[in-house]
Amino acid sequence: MQIHSVILLSLVAFAQATSVIVLGAGASGIFAAKQLKAAGIDVTILEARPDAIGGRMHKVEFPPKSGRFVELGANWIEGLGSNITNPVLPLVQKWGVNFKPTDFTNTTYRSASGSFDQSVFQDRLAAFSAITEMTSELSDKRMAADALDISLRAGYRMAGWYPKDEIDYAIEWNTFDYEQAETPDDFIMDKPAEFGCGYGSNCLKLNKTVSEIRWAVGNDGVSALDLPVSRQSPVKVTCKDGSVYTADYVISSFSLGVLQNVDVKFAPTLPDWKIQSIHSFHMAAYTKIFISFPSKFWTDNTEFIWYGATRRGEFTNWQVFDAAPYKEYFKGEHVLLCTVTDQVAFRIERQSDEQTKAELVQVLKNMYGPKVPNASAILVPRWNSDPLFRGSFTNWPIGMIKEEFDNLVAPINRLWFTGEHTSLEYFGYVHGAILAGTKTGDDVVKCIKNGCPKYPYHPVIHNAHGTTKFGKGERQ
Ligand SMILES: Cc1cc2nc3c(=O)[nH]c(=O)nc-3n(C[C@H](O)[C@H](O)[C@H](O)COP(=O)(O)OP(=O)(O)OC[C@H]3O[C@@H](n4cnc5c(N)ncnc54)[C@H](O)[C@@H]3O)c2cc1C
Repeated sequence: MQIHSVILLSLVAFAQATSVIVLGAGASGIFAAKQLKAAGIDVTILEARPDAIGGRMHKVEFPPKSGRFVELGANWIEGLGSNITNPVLPLVQKWGVNFKPTDFTNTTYRSASGSFDQSVFQDRLAAFSAITEMTSELSDKRMAADALDISLRAGYRMAGWYPKDEIDYAIEWNTFDYEQAETPDDFIMDKPAEFGCGYGSNCLKLNKTVSEIRWAVGNDGVSALDLPVSRQSPVKVTCKDGSVYTADYVISSFSLGVLQNVDVKFAPTLPDWKIQSIHSFHMAAYTKIFISFPSKFWTDNTEFIWYGATRRGEFTNWQVFDAAPYKEYFKGEHVLLCTVTDQVAFRIERQSDEQTKAELVQVLKNMYGPKVPNASAILVPRWNSDPLFRGSFTNWPIGMIKEEFDNLVAPINRLWFTGEHTSLEYFGYVHGAILAGTKTGDDVVKCIKNGCPKYPYHPVIHNAHGTTKFGKGERQ
């Protein structure tokens, strides 16, 4: 009798559909869930935000009560025009989203004392363009030779770039920091990236802030790692509201910044090699400050205004929503977007919006004179302190090696990791998130249906011993 009931129970267990929980409804989580759903797998998405999917793409009405919306997160579809199709483009076309090309050359330069000779600015810009081309060629050669990574600053210097004043720093900041949110001093020269369930469905659960992910039974995570998948325990996810979800597989799409903090507890603690990789990559800070005025006071009609800041990166890039191609949409509203990155972004997040407003107005007065009116509204997103993001997007630090990336991506038992930071080629971008989510979804489907694909991981990453031989090849 006892034997029979055991057999019956195991048959019942066998007949249950395999379930997967996807944590987070940003681009990567949604695309992972889509692949699972298409394969007929029972999938649930748990998302902390009460009213929105999309993660680091998030639109907000600005100016308040204007009926106009600005994007606090991603708004550029990068790399169009290259021979690779960015997967965001067909989506935008499919859903008829209105989009316009940005013309970065449509820029006016203004110094801290007002106007500036634009031909001098254009000459300096052309000189820097030549430098970036030389640096890019140097990078190609170094990558072909598998040379040790160096900083982009070293590359710029090797190509002859020695910035000497505010114009040079404004050009450098707007060309580099404005895209990557870090300085060339902190950034790799040989960058691998080249280009550069829906609402209303019951598989999406909003307002579910995950607080704990139990990926192995008990505390013995290390020995649990050696178990074959069939003997690994299901994953248990606990939310702040006390609800508990259990699934055969869990895919975390939380940002690298969330993984680097303590907002979500992993039980047992993740293995050392995983923790090391999580903390080895950079989560950059990129903040878009929107400011509106009762009237237009700026005299330039270009899409961008670059400011020759005395302190590097302090309010260097202004995007003008009164200018083409945004003018039509923002008709009647006088909105400027000022972007800050890195240490300036951290500082701005810590201070009051009133303080930031005063600083921005002062810079505008430097550029356009004392008649600049008081700003009517300001909007300062706080991606870095938000516990759901803890930053804007990832970058690879200088000297990073592929083994560390393998460890960042590798699943642990039935716990899988996705998100923009797990895209080898397009980390940091929406298309990176989409491609990573799609791949993780496909791999979990394979794992369930045909056997799990092998992911490399490295319990210890040893010192890299290069080809340099001390004492040989010395010069007199
Ligand atoms: C200011 C800014 C500008 C950018 N500009 C561009 C651009 O122009 N072009 C471009 O391609 N990319 C840009 N990016 C990067 C791009 O937005 C991201 O790479 C991409 O959206 C990341 O998607 P993801 O799915 O990996 O992560 P996320 O979008 O972060 O998704 C993770 C999800 O998990 C949820 N979550 C987190 N913690 C919990 C928890 N405890 N419980 C439950 N849910 C949780 C979050 O709410 C979120 O919805 C920008 C990003 C920022 C912030």
